[in-house]
Amino acid sequence: MTNLVHTRAELAAALDAAPGEIAVVMTMGALHEGHRRLMRVARERSPFVVVTIFVNPLQFGPNEDYEKYPRTLDEDLAACRAEGADLVFAPGRGDVYPHGQPSITMHPGPLGEILEGASRPGHFSGMLTVVEKLLMLTRAGVAYFGEKDFQQLALIRRMARDLELPVEIVGVPTVREGDGLALSSRNRYLSPDQRRSALALSRALREGATRRDPASVLTVARKILADEPGVRVDYLELTGPDLGPVPAEGPARLLVAARVGTTRLIDNVPLTLEKNA
Ligand code: AMP
Repeated sequence: MTNLVHTRAELAAALDAAPGEIAVVMTMGALHEGHRRLMRVARERSPFVVVTIFVNPLQFGPNEDYEKYPRTLDEDLAACRAEGADLVFAPGRGDVYPHGQPSITMHPGPLGEILEGASRPGHFSGMLTVVEKLLMLTRAGVAYFGEKDFQQLALIRRMARDLELPVEIVGVPTVREGDGLALSSRNRYLSPDQRRSALALSRALREGATRRDPASVLTVARKILADEPGVRVDYLELTGPDLGPVPAEGPARLLVAARVGTTRLIDNVPLTLEKNA
């Protein structure tokens, strides 16, 4: 049975009955197969799975899509039920921020200033602040996050490490459509034409990742993006596996952000570099 609660008091009462380790999957709702994968991975390990659904105003910039972000609680609840989640916590703004805008917030540090951080000032501070609060409120021993938001995952791992949070952070590989498009709640903003254009992101990453030297990884990926007029690239970057400098060889990450119409999409893939390739 999946219990739905909205307030902190209801959440606390439900958690008091949890039989063992609590796992949390944090979402902003508009749930899709990517979210459902996180729930399934959580379900395999933990006896009590909590899904949070909260569109966090703190992590949206003034010109971003906070107001129009899809809110589909009934369908979301059905998805959580189908995946066997034990508890859904769907708080209102006042349940998460009972004292209004918090005056003490998370500072993401240098890792928060590159890539998404450069394009979305304040986003990661707002994200880390709500993640920390939801970890405390849900008493989670383990928390699952998608690699789709790779920099977010890296920052949450760093926050847990640097602040000694008593929680294990687990990353889950990106779930894609059959044609390669990474699932995202924002995909529903795309018209059929825009969706076709958006495929250039995953195609560029996939083709780039077949190369073994940094220059051709970027050349191949850049060309695919440039050939798609419906896509305006924000960044295409090759980094180390933890978003550090590109290594001479071994695991690396290729990341992209782009606008298709007014919709901003991100994606990334792992790849392996070789010396003298
Ligand atoms: P969101 O609702 O977009 O904030 O995402 C909630 C969680 O689901 C985050 O940990 C995301 O990284 C994860 N997620 C979103 N899309 C995907 C996907 N396509 N594959 C795997 N995880 C995802």
